[in-house]
Amino acid sequence: MPEIIRFSTGDILELKKPHPCGSKQFRCERGGSDIRIVCIGCGRDMTIPRIKLEKSIKKVIKEDS
Ligand SMILES: [Zn+2]
Repeated sequence: MPEIIRFSTGDILELKKPHPCGSKQFRCERGGSDIRIVCIGCGRDMTIPRIKLEKSIKKVIKEDS
């Protein structure tokens, strides 16, 4: 059974494929069917369809505070 990946605004997403700047961590800025993520390494933002993003997530780092 495939694992359902849950994340919400403010969470840090570690992706399987690193950004060209070398960072693998991105902060989720906005949810919905298209997710806006911001690269932790260089601050670049991008919008990715949720389905595509879920497949490329390695792990979710919850930001509770
Ligand atoms: Zn980057």
